[in-house]
Amino acid sequence: MRTVTGSTDHVVVVGAGLAGLATALHLAGRGRAVTVVEREPVPGGRAGQLDIGGYRLDTGPSVLTMPEIVADTLAAVGEDIETRLDLHPVVPAYRACFADGSALDVHSDRDAMEHSIAEFAGPGEVAGYRRLRQWLTEIYRIEFDRFIAANFDSPLSLVTPALARLVALGGFRRLDRVIAEFLTDPRLRRVFTFQSLYAGVSPQRALALYAVIAYMDTVGGVYFPRGGMRALPAALAAAATDAGVRFHYGEAVTDLERCGTHIGAVHTDKQQRITCDAVVLATELHTAYQLLGRSPRRPVRARPAPSAVVAHIGVPAGATTAHHTLLFGDAWEQTFDELINQGVPMSDPSLLVTRTTATDSTLAPPGHDLFSVLAPAPNLDRGAHLDWQRRAPGYGADLAAIVEQRLLPGFAEHADIVHLDSPDDWAQRGMLAGTPFSLAHTFAQTGPFRPANLPRGVSNAVLAGCGTVPGVGVPTALLSGRLAADRITGAAGRNNPAPAANSSGVRP
Ligand SMILES: Cc1cc2nc3c(=O)[nH]c(=O)nc-3n(C[C@H](O)[C@H](O)[C@H](O)COP(=O)(O)OP(=O)(O)OC[C@H]3O[C@@H](n4cnc5c(N)ncnc54)[C@H](O)[C@@H]3O)c2cc1C
Repeated sequence: MRTVTGSTDHVVVVGAGLAGLATALHLAGRGRAVTVVEREPVPGGRAGQLDIGGYRLDTGPSVLTMPEIVADTLAAVGEDIETRLDLHPVVPAYRACFADGSALDVHSDRDAMEHSIAEFAGPGEVAGYRRLRQWLTEIYRIEFDRFIAANFDSPLSLVTPALARLVALGGFRRLDRVIAEFLTDPRLRRVFTFQSLYAGVSPQRALALYAVIAYMDTVGGVYFPRGGMRALPAALAAAATDAGVRFHYGEAVTDLERCGTHIGAVHTDKQQRITCDAVVLATELHTAYQLLGRSPRRPVRARPAPSAVVAHIGVPAGATTAHHTLLFGDAWEQTFDELINQGVPMSDPSLLVTRTTATDSTLAPPGHDLFSVLAPAPNLDRGAHLDWQRRAPGYGADLAAIVEQRLLPGFAEHADIVHLDSPDDWAQRGMLAGTPFSLAHTFAQTGPFRPANLPRGVSNAVLAGCGTVPGVGVPTALLSGRLAADRITGAAGRNNPAPAANSSGVRP
């Protein structure tokens, strides 16, 4: 594996999103002095937070999977996840509600899910689910170490016996076709294929290897931290601080000081010059390239993932909905066509409705419930004509009306839309094409074909975050921090004991 060259005693990490935080923890655990520079006043980046009228909103992820990766990140500095985070399993992981009025509780526990499926679709589907669960588990086992949590120096490094096994398992066939070989009920198939949208691709076009995401939530399970998702970046940042990492919040990196191919310092908008031996750019991908003064060499134009509108809605307490409800419309293939190809809002929306107060009632003022309603939407490349400034308030009311019609009578009448983010808002925060989900995981933007974390033309800079390997999502952003740290220290550096940090390198 290629690494940066030269000394790596003091590393500056730009960005305290989940990827930057994970990078800092892994590097601190391997004996490096680490300084993190973050333009916002708090850590988390897209795993963002807002406090409005007694509501404690999470503006980013709501579905937390793979807590073992969070545990691994904290273990890098010798910390236990239990002492830093109060994580609760979300049971059921989702309640899936269909346009025909039927509903299925999706459990990660095998027996509970078999029971759920037998009641929902009859015992005939249970055998298919058993085989599917086994297949998902095998796909995950093969992909995780070799393809997801791995640095690639070239596409050739993919050519291993594991690749042959992935081919034999059908990993390079279309996701919807492979899932259809296990399950006949089209509603059940949706429950195991909708996750491809998390990767920015429709189930009809996604390769079956992306079923690994369905492993993560439907087999691995969904979790929620007490205090809301913001508790995750807060825990990582606190552990990093205790491990000696220095944070500069509310300070943006504006320039990298170069001598030939070597970056010797970062400059910030507070007129600081912070010297470094190496730098990790854990920002949005195009910000990293701007700072490096180059653009990526790609044979094809980058394809951003679809975006989302997220409405945060307070209502009087009393709702009994699950923590996560998948509210499927009748339309399915047409929905992806509208979002990805036509660039128009869904005509028959499918929504992710989350009631965080189902798990932690302190996230809303007394006597209230807090919902977030996530509606996939076209990104601004496809939907450039959609005037979200004008459209957003009405769209928020439309979403509340759909929740009322399909899930909770009386919801819209009492709905207080306390905050709404549209593709315009994501764009204003500097996100590519107004999508918070970065580059879609098309085949040409996955694994060794995704923008690499070791950029060319510079000897001591590494990229981290959802725009580089392995990709979008909480677990993958955390893993990208580990992969970035490996590019600094070499993977062998992982077992180094955690020493105290030394000089921060700050020079006014
Ligand atoms: C609405 C929404 C819903 C989501 N839902 C889920 C979900 O349910 N499950 C899931 O797993 N994932 C979900 N995701 C995706 C997941 O949140 C992201 O993939 C992940 O948080 C990205 O982390 P990151 O560190 O790569 O990037 P970021 O969080 O964007 O971090 C980059 C950081 O760099 C900082 N920065 C940028 N430029 C500079 C500069 N010049 N100087 C200093 N600092 C700078 C930024 O302020 C930011 O803090 C969701 C995201 C959103 C927004």
